[in-house]
Amino acid sequence: MRVIIVGAGIGGLVTALHLHEAGIECEVYERSETIRELGVGINLLPHAVGPLAELGLLEPLREIAVETRELRYAHRLGHTILSKPCGLAAGYQVPQFSIHRGRLQGLLYRAVVERLGADGVRTGHRLTGFSQRAEGVGAMFADRSGRPLGEREGDILVAADGIHSTVRAALLPDEGAPRWNGVLMWRGATEWPAYLDGRTMIVAGGNEAKLVLYPVGAGASADTRLTNWALCVKAGSPGDPPPRREDWSRPGDRGEVGPHIPRFRIPEVDVAALIAATPEIFEYPMCDRDPAPLWTQGRVTLLGDAAHPMYPMGSNGAGQAIQDAVSLVRCLRERADPVAALRAYEDERRPVTGDIVLRNRVGGPERVIDEVERRAPDGFAHLDDVIDPAELDRIVASYAAATGMPRSTG
Ligand SMILES: Cc1cc2nc3c(=O)[nH]c(=O)nc-3n(C[C@H](O)[C@H](O)[C@H](O)COP(=O)(O)OP(=O)(O)OC[C@H]3O[C@@H](n4cnc5c(N)ncnc54)[C@H](O)[C@@H]3O)c2cc1C
Repeated sequence: MRVIIVGAGIGGLVTALHLHEAGIECEVYERSETIRELGVGINLLPHAVGPLAELGLLEPLREIAVETRELRYAHRLGHTILSKPCGLAAGYQVPQFSIHRGRLQGLLYRAVVERLGADGVRTGHRLTGFSQRAEGVGAMFADRSGRPLGEREGDILVAADGIHSTVRAALLPDEGAPRWNGVLMWRGATEWPAYLDGRTMIVAGGNEAKLVLYPVGAGASADTRLTNWALCVKAGSPGDPPPRREDWSRPGDRGEVGPHIPRFRIPEVDVAALIAATPEIFEYPMCDRDPAPLWTQGRVTLLGDAAHPMYPMGSNGAGQAIQDAVSLVRCLRERADPVAALRAYEDERRPVTGDIVLRNRVGGPERVIDEVERRAPDGFAHLDDVIDPAELDRIVASYAAATGMPRSTG
């Protein structure tokens, strides 16, 4: 069995590591010339950390990430709506990590090269097409200039090639571009004095205007942290074409962010100063795709954002890609026929992730904030006067269960 993986993002690299553990041969093909540590912060919930711990990566993750202890949902004007313990503090066996996406990708890449050898990841290989035969699949690649690099043979092809997946476009030729929900998101990370316990994530505001803050790494001194922020504002209507194509590395315009900052009051952090101090900011229109009617055709399947791009609510983008990897490798181990294994993988993962895509469209767990802001747009003195806190717990618990998070004991 030989697996061709397209894309060396989080999904592709974790798939390679789990295949290797299972004794299944694989190679990863990545269009970028080098693996550059791009992106800003992401969160790994315990059900995403577990499969990384099984790969022996818990200690290396601890060295570069922050073990998130608390998640606080707040009104845009600062009042706390709900506060939940996270990871070990919530009774899970493994922590929740807030981490710089690029550092996570770098860690996974080095692990793949160490375990699979230097040829485990072939950079500078852009997938241009594939062909299937009864006994295998051929994948065609080209370099950056478009020069063909020939065809590689495998038993199956796993497309972990992100929101603009070439393979998805071939499987679903009428699908078109990703769908924008009208929200523009600016993101950045910079060294900043630790706030609260130095391990707390704050999500303030609902779908109209949201600010997300969390530390993702140590700072130069004990009382600073590499601090990630994301500011999201409604700038269009769902289904409108985004002002600029979705590209995770697109630089943002500071002048466009500034007018939105006064919409938030976060007592613990001087948000205007934090954003002003951030050397590089990025812009991304919040895009997803409708749940796909199929992921698999014979010996070819989709994984991660290629299969289920979703709005970044509820910290599930990378986590669901990791869950896909675990499921795919288990299905391949359990079935001798690769075509049957891919079908079983799709049957297991497509309904679950399609449900998360739809839940994220209405805010995911962060819907608790929308619910409170709708009833109390100018804030509140006592939360009990606005909503029954049990209702908030129900929203959060129902989302967590849908994403495959086991119940915490905390
Ligand atoms: C540069 C970058 C920065 C990001 N920054 C953030 C962030 O700050 N916050 C956040 O929440 N999420 C971010 N994301 C998205 C996040 O990584 C994903 O939602 C999640 O980790 C699932 O990852 P994935 O592996 O499925 O897809 P991705 O992380 O998108 O990885 C897909 C990979 O496939 C490669 N690829 C694409 N097409 C081809 C092709 N034809 N042939 C070969 N290779 C191909 C891409 O170069 C990329 O390396 C970022 C993604 C990228 C690519």
